[in-house]
Amino acid sequence: TFEKSKGQHILKNPMLVESIVQKSGIKPTDVVLEIGPGTGNLTKKLLECAKSVVAVELDPRMVLELNRRFQGTPYANRLKVIQGDVLKCDLPYFDICVANIPYKISSPLTFKLLSHRPVFRCAVIMYQREFALRLVANPGDSAYCRLSVNTQLLARVSHLLKVGKNNFRPPPKVDSSVVRIEPRRPLPPVSFKEWDGLMRICFNKKNKTLGSLFKQKGVLALLEKNYKTLQSLRLSGNPEGIGEEKEITSEDVNVLADTGDDMMDTERDNRDEDEEMDTDSCVNMSEGSTFKDKVLEILRQGDFLEKRASKLSQVDFLFLLSLFNKAGIHFS
Ligand code: SAM
Repeated sequence: TFEKSKGQHILKNPMLVESIVQKSGIKPTDVVLEIGPGTGNLTKKLLECAKSVVAVELDPRMVLELNRRFQGTPYANRLKVIQGDVLKCDLPYFDICVANIPYKISSPLTFKLLSHRPVFRCAVIMYQREFALRLVANPGDSAYCRLSVNTQLLARVSHLLKVGKNNFRPPPKVDSSVVRIEPRRPLPPVSFKEWDGLMRICFNKKNKTLGSLFKQKGVLALLEKNYKTLQSLRLSGNPEGIGEEKEITSEDVNVLADTGDDMMDTERDNRDEDEEMDTDSCVNMSEGSTFKDKVLEILRQGDFLEKRASKLSQVDFLFLLSLFNKAGIHFS
């Protein structure tokens, strides 16, 4: 019996398993990480072409079955099964990750992999179709969202295979897709907290103009608070670490991870532009010029006032972030 709560949908089509393994480009010297091996249909094919496989499986019954399946075969000493929750355990070294995962851990798992060190070569993962489309979406695509930009900041992603429900037993309610993820090396020199802070504002309503998003009271108040904190630190001669470019840490990546598997995000973003309260009651900066003016001037400078997040690329956002930072405006 398979447990729904653990997302247990076993791959039953051997051709599909073969094709996933082929597309992952495993070398005979590779250590492969598999997440949620289940009964081991994929595991077996992985063992045929890799040096070794480390498989993390939550369900003790599956772990038993898996060990039993390979006991006494030439594969037994090249397979290590770790029983536990992949989100909670320390991952071992691996070159490649190949997995048919439980879909509810899609987002945290993806970012856990991307924060793992040393960096792996590539991951080939089965996701729910909608999630996969958001991962690989480009500016202008309807699925383009914060998950797309945050993932693509850290990795190159591409759609490999469409997979119908009937390739699984029992069939899930949703269609699936296999996606390839290749971590970028080197990573863009940007603070991920800063990046995510900017993305949260821009994608809050991805079809609104940046001009109207940055006029919102809450946004301006937050940015002004950061701005003033930084200025007082500068005055006290202690600007250490602020806005600095750092090597990525898992804490940083966890910030990016919280992109919500909730499809609500997309639904809300697709709604027509609703009226947002603008604020004109801004605190005076200096002689007549308000903080709001300063922010809007930066947007104007980069020709971003009328632009919408739904159409902007990673390069555009990095440019926008650099304009803000140059003016002393920070997002974290
Ligand atoms: N890989 C197998 C296949 O393709 O036939 C099974 C895939 S099934 C979609 C997902 C597997 O992940 C199940 O065996 C389930 O018990 C396991 N699983 C669920 N949550 C997990 C977690 N947090 N950590 C590790 N494994 C988990």
